[in-house]
Amino acid sequence: MTEPRTATADLPRAGPTTDALISAHGLKKTYGSGPAAFHALRGVDLDVRPAEKLAIVGKSGSGKSTLMHLLALLDSPSAGTLEVMGQDARTLTAAAVNGIRNRAFGFVFQQFFMIPNASVLENVELPLKIGGVAAQERRLRALAVLEQVEMADKANNRATDLSGGQKQRMVIARAIVNEPRVVFADEPTGNLDTATGRIIEDLLFGLNESAGITLVIVTHDEDLASRCSRQVSLKDGLIVDPEVAA
Ligand code: ADP
Ligand code: MG
Repeated sequence: MTEPRTATADLPRAGPTTDALISAHGLKKTYGSGPAAFHALRGVDLDVRPAEKLAIVGKSGSGKSTLMHLLALLDSPSAGTLEVMGQDARTLTAAAVNGIRNRAFGFVFQQFFMIPNASVLENVELPLKIGGVAAQERRLRALAVLEQVEMADKANNRATDLSGGQKQRMVIARAIVNEPRVVFADEPTGNLDTATGRIIEDLLFGLNESAGITLVIVTHDEDLASRCSRQVSLKDGLIVDPEVAA
């Protein structure tokens, strides 16, 4: 078998101020400027705790995706601070941010983002390729996670030819191929029928149970949110009822 993987072993550990994986204080995000400015987040305090299943809920337009993008270092806040694994995000170099996104975080979006004409295997290998992992090890690790999501038999299929549920399984395989600390999922079942969505939910929750992967799930699906260990509810860019714990 392959050697034990330590892809995230050299990433920063929780610092002295908090045990949270990610800690947001007074987070604001304004899109545009002047009279056209839109205040999508208006001051959010939130900790993402190790191995929790956090649901971010709220109506469409309440700022859920904006908040998730900030927590995941996909976008920068207009104001406020963000500590990621003990480090102030403002002090991270671009290379460090890319490293965290690539190795410590995994992403699952509603739209099944993928390289369209590439094979399933190539799609799953992508984060490893970006991380500079050698071809043979890439292949072994990608096949192992495809096995985990019961997609090994589709490894050589074109990603575009898959059904919605299969695409989302492939995306989950890609999200976990680097053994991340956190998987961020934005409406992961939004484009799937109920039964297929259930399978995808089970896969995500299984990652939490088996590998302790922290889940941050943006959803307006109450059933999905109720399966999480904690819910925070956004309204007009602010958290309401911050401790509605399931
Ligand atoms: P949600 O995910 O809860 O539906 P979003 O975080 O996507 O909400 O968006 C919050 C608000 O910010 C919405 O009113 C949306 O139109 C606005 N918004 C989001 N992204 C942009 C952008 N890039 N430019 C301008 N407005 C945006
Ligand atoms: Mg959204």
